[in-house]
Amino acid sequence: MSGSGDRRDSAVRIGVLFPDLLGTYGDGGNAVVLAQRLAWRDIPVDVVTVAAGQAAPDSCDLYLVGGGEDGPQVQATRELAQSRALHRAVDAGAVVLAVCAGMQILGHRFPDAAGTDQAGLGLLDCDTVRVDRPRAVGELLTRDAAVPDPSDPSGAGRCELGVLTGFENHAGRTVPGQECATLAAVEVGEGNGDGTEGVVCGKVVGTYLHGPVLARNPRLADLLLGWVVGADVLAPLDDGEVDELRTERLRAARSHELAPRRSWRDLLRRS
Ligand code: GLN
Repeated sequence: MSGSGDRRDSAVRIGVLFPDLLGTYGDGGNAVVLAQRLAWRDIPVDVVTVAAGQAAPDSCDLYLVGGGEDGPQVQATRELAQSRALHRAVDAGAVVLAVCAGMQILGHRFPDAAGTDQAGLGLLDCDTVRVDRPRAVGELLTRDAAVPDPSDPSGAGRCELGVLTGFENHAGRTVPGQECATLAAVEVGEGNGDGTEGVVCGKVVGTYLHGPVLARNPRLADLLLGWVVGADVLAPLDDGEVDELRTERLRAARSHELAPRRSWRDLLRRS
C-alpha cells in the first residue's frame, strides 16, 4: 500500500471477488469505472477477477464485492471465511467496496434463502436481518454523505461525498453497530432500513447502492482510489457529463418518477 503523496511504481491491483456469484446487479461496472479513472491519470492498473472456487489473493490494493441472490452469497461467504484472504488484506490496509449482498456478508450475520442466520465475515460491524416488510426495490437517494477519514488518528476528520444516488433491490435490512459509521441519511428509498444508508469501518465501505454506484458517484470512486494511491496523486477529471446525468437522476428520484415499485413476489405474498 502506498501512503498519501507516494508515487507508485507498481500497478494498482483491483480484486473483483466472485462476479459469477455476486454479479446479478451489474456491480462489475465498478471495476471498469475504477480502472478507467486510473487510466485517465496514467496510473497503471491490474484488474484481477476471481471466480468461485478460485483462491482469492490477499495482495490486492482494493477489493470489490457485488450484489447477488441469497444462495450464492452463502457460497461466497464460505469461500472467504475458509481462505481468510480478505481478512488478511484488510489487516494489511486494503480498501474494500462491498455492495448489497457484499455488504451483508461482510457483517456479523445475514439470512440465507430459508431465512436462517448465517455467520458473516465480521469485517463490518453490522447485522442483516429479515423483516416483515416488502423487498426494497427502486431508486435510492441519500442526503449529503461523509465518511470518517481513516488517516486522521483523532477520528474527527471527515471525507465529504455529497449526495449519493443509485438503485436498491434487497429483502434484508442492515442494523449498523457501534463500531462503525454509516454513509449518509436516506432521502428517497430504504437503504439500511432505519433511515441510514451504508456501513463504513476504516477503509471498508458497504452500501446498498447499485448503479453501478461508482459510475453514478465518481466522488466515491476517487475517495477509494485516493485511499490507495494518495488523494494528492489523483489529478482532477472532468465529470461534467456525469454531473448532468446525476442532476437528471436526482430530479427523477425526488419527483418519484422512479418511485420504488413492489415486486411480483411481494404482491403475491400479500394476496
Ligand atoms: N440477497 C440479498 C437480499 O435480498 C442481497 C440482494 C442484493 O445483493 N441486491 O437482501
